[in-house]
Amino acid sequence: MKTKPAKKTGKQQDLSFTNKNGYEKISPADLKRSDELNKMYMDFIGKAKTEREAHDEAVLLLEAAGFSDMAKHEKENIRLNPGDKVYKSCEGKTLMAIVVGKKPLEAGMHIVGGHTDAPRIDIKQNPLYENGDLALLDTHYYGSIRKYQWVTIPLALHGVFVKSDGRKVKVSIGEDPSDPVFCITDLLPHIAADQAKKPLGEAIPGEGLDVVFGSVPADEKDRKEKFKYNILKLLHAKYGINEEDFLSAELEMVPAGKPREAGLDRSMILSYGHDDRVCAYTGLKALLDLKGVPEYTSCVLLCDKEEIGSVGSTGMASNFFENAASELLNLTTNAYSELALKRALSNSWMLSADVNALFDPMFPGFFDKKNSAIVNHGVCVTKFTGARGKSGSSDASAEFLAHIRRIFDKNGVLWQTGELGKVDQGGAGTISYLMARYGMKVVDCGVGLFSMHAPMELAGKLDIYMAYKGYLAFLQDGRK
Ligand code: MN
Ligand code: MN
Repeated sequence: MKTKPAKKTGKQQDLSFTNKNGYEKISPADLKRSDELNKMYMDFIGKAKTEREAHDEAVLLLEAAGFSDMAKHEKENIRLNPGDKVYKSCEGKTLMAIVVGKKPLEAGMHIVGGHTDAPRIDIKQNPLYENGDLALLDTHYYGSIRKYQWVTIPLALHGVFVKSDGRKVKVSIGEDPSDPVFCITDLLPHIAADQAKKPLGEAIPGEGLDVVFGSVPADEKDRKEKFKYNILKLLHAKYGINEEDFLSAELEMVPAGKPREAGLDRSMILSYGHDDRVCAYTGLKALLDLKGVPEYTSCVLLCDKEEIGSVGSTGMASNFFENAASELLNLTTNAYSELALKRALSNSWMLSADVNALFDPMFPGFFDKKNSAIVNHGVCVTKFTGARGKSGSSDASAEFLAHIRRIFDKNGVLWQTGELGKVDQGGAGTISYLMARYGMKVVDCGVGLFSMHAPMELAGKLDIYMAYKGYLAFLQDGRK
């Protein structure tokens, strides 16, 4: 978003501000790079369908780019110097990647923080049962979903069983074209008169999201629950697990299939899990593409559990980030102190990299159009989140927004501002308020989406590319 230059020749300066579509402004070179970046992104989200898979794919990219595990440095006290690249994992779900900058850590970091968990249907701990000659899996949905959207679509099962001896069995069924898929059934319209009168949020109850898992009885004469037992036999034959192993498993049903280009002009991407792998990936890619040694230590966070409030040991409300920053301080200086840590945190700058809503012409009444992000107008900067009078928000300062404006405009980043819907229509939060507690400067900045939290979300390619470009400019910025 660039203010129009004042016309010096005319009698009057043009003081107005307009935000044009990105296709009217982008250079041919940037358009080419946008296509390349979006191809890589599609490859990433096609493989990273859970937070564990996103973590593992990210580690592969980091290691290929010369990043090493910070755990080894911590254990063997291997010092870190400017230009060194490391990552730190938290339980195989949350990940922090760092390029050590020229300035001491006490001067602060530049952080891009996104999340890799996405709304989905989790499998319960004792899930398997049978009814109506079907084997079914009982579920508990994860994150804020509109339940009616998740019935009758092909689902894939991803996750891990961990046996009591610690052996981990990874599962992924439904992504390969030769795999079977799963689904949740819905009522036929012919007999849905009562259901059709219910509010959207009540038509499909939470306990009504059980997944059809099979329909062949076990060929065993005296066996009870033959449909369920046949499933156990198949699972045992393929994975060596038994029913008790569900007790220590993390299994997620996610929409099956790959992301697709959308629109006749291929200008968008339709995919499961844009929120928030689109910001996580573009942030990570920006870190991988840093040129030379950055002035300030660059840090990218790919975190877990954002969709349920950043809770638990792998969520941003835990001490993981602070502990990791402590280790980093210890490894980059010979003078660790709590004061230095506090300075490092409070002097940090952060882009909280999360998605926002795009103005949707199907639902104009839910948006304030002039304060909504528009597809392909660039990466969206969100000054404040929250709901009902900005409650629960981290409201970035005008001073920090001015810095971000300067960084983006200087580096040719197409950007816009956006507020999540009309006042009093609802609202949301991200990880920004948790990081702002340290006193660091934080603003939300990410990609706008249509149909956020739906099984398939829609995003504009230029917005995705400009998120990458914005994160790169921010990480490389020297605060001059
Ligand atoms: Mn999000
Ligand atoms: Mn979300």
